[in-house]
Amino acid sequence: MTVRVRFAPSPTGMFHVGGARSALQNWIYAKQQGGVFVLRIEDTDAARNKPEWTEGILSALDWIGISRGSYEGPYFQSANAGEHRAAAARLYDSGRAYYCDCTREDVQARTGSQHQGYDGYHRDRGLGPGPGHALRFRTPDEGATVVVDLIRGEPTFENKLIEDFVIARGDGSPVFLLANVVDDMTMGITHVIRAEEHLPNTPKQQLLWEALGVKPPIWAHVPVVVNEKRQKLSKRRDKVALEAYRDEGYLAGAMRNYLMLLGWAPSGDREIVPWSVIEDEFRLDEVNLSSAFFDEKKLRAFNGEYIRALPVAEFIDACQPWLTGTGTIAPPPWQPEEFDADAFAAVAPLAQTRIAVLSEIVPNVDFLFLASPLIDEAAWTKTMKDGSAELLDDAVAAFEALESWDAESLKSTLEAVGAERGLKLGKTQAPVRVAVTGRTVGLPLFESLEVLGRERTLTRIRAARLRLV
Ligand code: GLU
Repeated sequence: MTVRVRFAPSPTGMFHVGGARSALQNWIYAKQQGGVFVLRIEDTDAARNKPEWTEGILSALDWIGISRGSYEGPYFQSANAGEHRAAAARLYDSGRAYYCDCTREDVQARTGSQHQGYDGYHRDRGLGPGPGHALRFRTPDEGATVVVDLIRGEPTFENKLIEDFVIARGDGSPVFLLANVVDDMTMGITHVIRAEEHLPNTPKQQLLWEALGVKPPIWAHVPVVVNEKRQKLSKRRDKVALEAYRDEGYLAGAMRNYLMLLGWAPSGDREIVPWSVIEDEFRLDEVNLSSAFFDEKKLRAFNGEYIRALPVAEFIDACQPWLTGTGTIAPPPWQPEEFDADAFAAVAPLAQTRIAVLSEIVPNVDFLFLASPLIDEAAWTKTMKDGSAELLDDAVAAFEALESWDAESLKSTLEAVGAERGLKLGKTQAPVRVAVTGRTVGLPLFESLEVLGRERTLTRIRAARLRLV
């Protein structure tokens, strides 16, 4: 039997990091089993779907390493609507489903409860199809449905506790639960690996498989991803969009490594591991049952390590989208013609050890390309104290007289300027840094000044000095 797994996102919003994790788990499982990964876009909720969300899913998958052309699909659930209706009709014809025209209020009036499910009123009343008649599945009265789940063992659901659930609405349209089963069936899916939130649907879906005469798949319900308050990550509250992380400058390698650690760990005491190790070692049945904390701080630290591990040339390449403003990434504050690739290459190794996400490259290097620095006013006020004006005057005079404009000479020169006033280097360089870069933190100052050049450095220190009169 060839293993066939599927990833079945609904294109109703940005691509969720939890979805990305399920996709990767499916992807690896297929690979390990010599199987096939199928992508199915579950687009039947016409009111909430948008084509751009589908495109977003495809490009986000591509980014994370599940590249177009390397999987089967994408299929679209909407294209399978005929099959969904045919399955509903088969279930009705075989007596496994029946029509019902009860409203919620009708059921409540009979059962006296808002919370109890459907009471089976129409089970044997022989109502035929018609406008407003929903089709309900006749669940077995006895026995239990045992779900074989690679992560959870064999969760067992008493059939008598499963209500006769709706499989097609009053307008005849099949509901998601059925469409999802029929698609898996027609696509020959053998393993359904998906988020835990679908576990309550699973006994119903398994009953549908059985009623349609096909052996159900093996299931694997992976625990949900939660925030620091242990709440399920939600797109309204949390930063969940994979695209947002991509645009902030997370590396795909760091992201997918991190996502796979949500609920699982490779052997040894390792967390940062090559993808090939994860592909070898990952075991679905080792995935934890408890929910997995998506720790953005840890992800940042991971990403910083991945950035530092890049050869400098690759780091320079990886920064390009932020240096130019490509696609959905905001353009930098400088004009394209102001950018100087050589100057950037000169400071890139310094930046590489300091940033955790690639977008941070921009505030670190903008002083090199802008005609005048973007002054952070709070930093200015904090740094420019009594004595700063005179200190800047002395710095200008000393720098003007420098024979060689290099980091080492700049440093010893400024150190001497400070020493005359009894100041340590840190205190001496702070006003110079703010004058030249506009900020209190950034790349090592003297290397920065070396790359910026004498003329621009002096112009900026003089301009700052003028502001202090
Ligand atoms: N379209 C469903 C979702 O995005 C997937 C259901 C499934 O994987 O079976 O949650």
